Amino acid sequence: MGEFELIRRHFQRAPATGGDSAVVLGIGDDCALLQPSPGHQLAISSDMLVEGRHFFADVDPEALGHKALAVNLSDLAAMGARPLGFTLALALPHADSDWLARFAQGMFALADAHACPLVGGDTTRGPLNLCITVFGEVRPGQALRRDAARAGDDLYVSGRTGEARLALEQLRGTEWAGAVGGAEARARLERPTPRNALGVALSAVAGAHAAIDLSDGLAGDLGHLLQASGVGAEIHLPALPVAPALQGLPDAHRLECLLAGGDDYELLFTAAPEAREAIAQASADSATPVTRIGRIAVAPGLRLLGAAGQVVPFGAQGFDHFA
Ligand code: ADP
Ligand code: MG
Repeated sequence: MGEFELIRRHFQRAPATGGDSAVVLGIGDDCALLQPSPGHQLAISSDMLVEGRHFFADVDPEALGHKALAVNLSDLAAMGARPLGFTLALALPHADSDWLARFAQGMFALADAHACPLVGGDTTRGPLNLCITVFGEVRPGQALRRDAARAGDDLYVSGRTGEARLALEQLRGTEWAGAVGGAEARARLERPTPRNALGVALSAVAGAHAAIDLSDGLAGDLGHLLQASGVGAEIHLPALPVAPALQGLPDAHRLECLLAGGDDYELLFTAAPEAREAIAQASADSATPVTRIGRIAVAPGLRLLGAAGQVVPFGAQGFDHFA
């Protein structure tokens, strides 16, 4: 199977026919042509997945296809942008048709669920490496930027954090991680659910200010948002949503999973207290649970508060590939 046969067989599909498709020209020419809605801004993000670094060589290709697109859709969600399409740059050690079919199946199932078609890419021989670029659109002024948090804002998280980290430790055989909740936690690690419906709903809420998606751990990613916005925050620890699988862990490890887990792909966002009803409505409209976990403060830094309001020390930072 040559390069072009590979693309035709696994990645080229009939053009989307939906009325709101932005794709004027998809795979096959030198460029794709996208037509955003009038007056909208483009939101663009790339994420690369490298074997050995982001996934294991024996990972289920269907799950890998899902995750490669999910982490990119999550970036659009964090901006409140509606997905328009994506490109896929792929380096493969060899053209394994069965592997490619399953990879494409996982990727296209998620792409179809988000009406986000594949519009182009590049294919080459090399160590397994995937790079997806997503394109989205957002109305001017409605993007949920990291630098937009204000002192006095409520701090929210969607879904719950920590299960992906638990699954990773269970796969590594780490003793404290045990085996409780293994299947569900592993699904969170391998097949994360990007929160696009919530992100788009939040972008229309006037009082919703800043957002970031959680890829490297809640505390570390919140740190990026705080720094960009020039503010600090308090998290009320008892308010953090805790998955059943995490409930039996020793306190320190539970906290580590919740706050420094990584691979959560939930949204962390801030909104004015006046917007609480609108946030609840956005949560209901998008069928995505959200929990208020703290607030944005003038004083810089992150403070973790226990049940009695006491400061709880916590040293872990987010995952940094070069640390
Ligand atoms: P070029 O020579 O301009 O780089 P290619 O021969 O690499 O073009 O690709 C031919 C067409 O196939 C282009 O439209 C390109 O976007 C598309 N394409 C290549 N690889 C992929 C891929 N992995 N997924 C989707 N489309 C792809
Ligand atoms: Mg090319």
